[in-house]
Amino acid sequence: GGTIGILGGGQLGRMMAMSAAQLGYRCITFSPEKDGVAGQVSNDYFANKWADGPALAAFAQQCDVITWEFENVPVEPLRAIDGQLFPNLRALETAQDRLNEKRFVQDLGGQPAAYSVIDSHADLMSAVDRIGAPGILKTRRDGYDGKGQWRIDSARDAEGIRLPDTATIYEGFVEFFAEFSVILVRGQDGEIRFWDSAENVHKDGILATSTLPASARVREQVESARTLASNIAGALGYVGVLTCEFFATNAGPVFNEMAPRVHNSGHWSIEGAVTSQFENHIRAVCGLPLGETATIAPGVVMENLIGKDAKTALDRLSEADTHVHLYGKAKAREGRKMGHLTRIERT
Ligand code: ATP
Ligand code: MG
Ligand code: MG
Repeated sequence: GGTIGILGGGQLGRMMAMSAAQLGYRCITFSPEKDGVAGQVSNDYFANKWADGPALAAFAQQCDVITWEFENVPVEPLRAIDGQLFPNLRALETAQDRLNEKRFVQDLGGQPAAYSVIDSHADLMSAVDRIGAPGILKTRRDGYDGKGQWRIDSARDAEGIRLPDTATIYEGFVEFFAEFSVILVRGQDGEIRFWDSAENVHKDGILATSTLPASARVREQVESARTLASNIAGALGYVGVLTCEFFATNAGPVFNEMAPRVHNSGHWSIEGAVTSQFENHIRAVCGLPLGETATIAPGVVMENLIGKDAKTALDRLSEADTHVHLYGKAKAREGRKMGHLTRIERT
């Protein structure tokens, strides 16, 4: 046993803490939210601001290792606890900024969507001229679930748009036929294991479903995407679960973004894989042997419960081989991830 610190108080931390508890570890959560849902299953909860150095030091003193479930954490206060962090700070810094992330991945031979750095309205006009429309204006930092993104369908759209007062990039719209993610775990000794890649469907910028097996034409693209993902993990000296999202296009996989953490598109692995992403993340950060990642059935479908969807989720328990996860969130705001369902298809 020992104590694992988790930065961030959301459902990913909650599911991580549940896996950690199974292995006999204590978990403590650090989050600026008063009542993050990870706190319901943690042994202790630090409700402090990210930049609260003394609170962070007191938290770190109780932890053998520290990890995160949320990547938009200011890096500077974490420098003091760098030695305890898995994955490391470099992974966090790279993935926090879409521009750094894309440059880093391009240096490793990855292919992102055409993009341009936008510092002014004139930059946006010339980016739309060069890359074309449609495209998406994205904040470089802090976006998730499609927040901080604006679709631009024409130069005229671009003319009318008011830039947010934070750094942005413009990305050409990728004509994909599907989306998929590569999820891997890398151990402290550098061993890498991959889960099968699910085909992901998004609605309004939010993941709706992840389905296994992916279609044959997506499966064809997984190997080259895995090579890139493992090069990313290796170059970062990464420890833990790493997720890379891809667009499957006729020209091969286009890198969308990475998440330096467990990921919604890997939730199916709780019931659908020999070892879940959460357990393997805990194993990796604690220096334990990694578990098998094989899928246990011919098919697995994960469905997110967004907003009011969660209200009737328990009714779905009457469906065969269906598993319900509710995250313990009090308010079912529109667009909020409240839980998910996983259905195992054994034949
Ligand atoms: P999260 O981190 O929660 O996955 P995010 O806010 O970082 O989401 P992205 O992954 O950038 O958002 O975009 C969300 C979805 O919007 C993508 O999965 C895809 O469906 C669509 N999308 C984003 N960028 C592009 C693009 N350049 N071309 C086509 N579709 C896109
Ligand atoms: Mg993202
Ligand atoms: Mg995404």
